[in-house]
Amino acid sequence: MPDQIQQSYEFRAEIQQLLHILVHSLYTDREIFLRELISNASDALSRVQFEMLTNQDVLDIDAELAVHIAFDPDAKTLTVSDSGIGMTQAEMIENLGTIAHSGAAAFLKQLTQEKRPLTEVIGRFGVGFYAAFMVADRIQVISRSYRPDAEAAQWSSTGDNQYTVGLAARRSRGTDVILHLKEDAVEFLTAWRLEQIIKKHSDFVAFPIYLQDKVANQRTPLWRRAPREVSAEEYDTFYQQLTLDFEKPLLHLHYVADAPVDIHAVLFVPRTREKGMLGLRKDFGLKLYSSHVLIQEYNKDLLPNHFRFVEGVLDSEDIPLNVSRETVQNNRLLAQIQKALTGRLVKELASLATEKPDDYRIFWQEFGGFIKEGVATDLVGKDSLLPLLRFHSTQAAAADAWVSLPAYVERMPSEQKEIYYILGEDLTSVQRSPHLDPLKQRNIEVLTLVETVDSFMMVALREFDGKPLKNVDSADLDLPPLPEKADEPAREPVADANFNRLVSRFVEILGDRVQEVRASKALSTSPCRLVSPEGAMNQEMQRVYKLLDQPFDAPKKVLELNRSHPLVQDLAFLAAADRQPDLVRLEIEQLYESALLQEGIHPNPAAMVAGIQELLARAAHATRRAETDAD
Ligand code: ADP
Ligand code: MG
Repeated sequence: MPDQIQQSYEFRAEIQQLLHILVHSLYTDREIFLRELISNASDALSRVQFEMLTNQDVLDIDAELAVHIAFDPDAKTLTVSDSGIGMTQAEMIENLGTIAHSGAAAFLKQLTQEKRPLTEVIGRFGVGFYAAFMVADRIQVISRSYRPDAEAAQWSSTGDNQYTVGLAARRSRGTDVILHLKEDAVEFLTAWRLEQIIKKHSDFVAFPIYLQDKVANQRTPLWRRAPREVSAEEYDTFYQQLTLDFEKPLLHLHYVADAPVDIHAVLFVPRTREKGMLGLRKDFGLKLYSSHVLIQEYNKDLLPNHFRFVEGVLDSEDIPLNVSRETVQNNRLLAQIQKALTGRLVKELASLATEKPDDYRIFWQEFGGFIKEGVATDLVGKDSLLPLLRFHSTQAAAADAWVSLPAYVERMPSEQKEIYYILGEDLTSVQRSPHLDPLKQRNIEVLTLVETVDSFMMVALREFDGKPLKNVDSADLDLPPLPEKADEPAREPVADANFNRLVSRFVEILGDRVQEVRASKALSTSPCRLVSPEGAMNQEMQRVYKLLDQPFDAPKKVLELNRSHPLVQDLAFLAAADRQPDLVRLEIEQLYESALLQEGIHPNPAAMVAGIQELLARAAHATRRAETDAD
């Protein structure tokens, strides 16, 4: 094409910056440019394949869907061609230059501020094409759109601030990307080197990749092969090529079924939740194929939402080929597939727990929150998730110690009828809660729940194995009787008259902040606690409201006092004799506020400091007086 009908354009500022980095730096992993070009070619092929299902009017309807890679050592060119969807001039400007690429800024940030290796992030932000400027000092793109009436177009740039776009002569559908390689990049002009790169990064691309007319990648998609014929390494490589994760997956699952629905699926659980940040995939969801054709890149209906950390591919002949992306959602078959797939996944996770407990621990630490979310939100699938749950407890308190519900039930004493749990802010403070007193005395295990999602989960999780789950803050725990303790005589409780006087003082001072003040039957080492009155909104719901920032009336609680606690005894003495009323008032306020704090419902904990300092001052002063008197 004559040069005069080529028109010049400026790259967007971020792209200019990006190109500057790519052109002027030396990267050891620059071979990944080929992965990016092949990935673009494969996307273009998937898109035209999909177009052919729904649209009769496609240029070259019979052309083979394939990638061709050719090189010319004399001309120092490397060409990646595809028979994909192609681009018009306008699309070239939009996709390779001025308009698109909002991801470039995010990409630059990862690269410069977070110091992530370029080759790890380049595929992630819609800028993979430009990776080719690491090895080429000029790139030409010649393309013809699949629309029969579109004209062929060309794009060209040397990687400075400009590019040109104009008409071209190309008769067939698809795109050639021609790289004029830099002097130091001639290594990419040999067949064995290119083949090595294709195997390493693009082996599982779903279309044939011809290298100088010889197919260089796997012909049968991995998920369509028999599971016993696929090696562990192949699964790992497939996963890494699918996600660009540098680590191997924690778990793979290859599921093949023909009834009631045809399913060929390969699913992976990554090793870390973080990987999503760096992976190639821009969204979550499974790749959905129907008879080898990619129907959807990120399908979210094949697994319940709480399994969104799972990566993989599903291919089914039963999904109609002419389905459009919108109607996939309403497909009844998908519901059936989802059910089968989820069942298998849950089973696989359960056997991971028994067969590889260390791996399961990693799984739980990374993804346990998703399982809890599933219990909270999936009314139908909830029960199957329960055995996957892991908890810290009063007997599994260390950060890496966990108990499952079946294991808890297994080691319950035979008189115990309920499963106990406590909600708190963190593992250390929850262990000190006064609610644990009666359970510690009876040596009963209590599950300790301290994550945000726990409150949501416990609203839905009311029973396991026929045993109710009970929050230990309830006043009506059905506890086994206490074993007699002969050695340690119980402390005398406060006499009725004094205790009643103290209760009146509490009521006077706390007013309608509490519903009732009464003696506790449960407490042993703590002076007091707040319990929910029977029938009130439970603590889980309160916490959920608090987390959602929803207004709710903090329900009034019952304050229980331990009649045998020295502090309560001394206060009762002072109250009965009506001595030191100011001190008694201050202590009652502080006791109430510390109980709120222990429940995790104190509206403003810092406000307690003034009262604490006042008490400290009084204690120091009284002690000093006593000391001087003694002298
Ligand atoms: P991404 O692939 O993440 O979108 P790239 O920088 O790799 O980002 O490519 C930018 C865009 O250029 C693609 O989204 C696509 O629209 C277009 N493109 C690149 N290569 C091809 C090709 N071989 N055929 C058709 N379009 C292409
Ligand atoms: Mg790309």
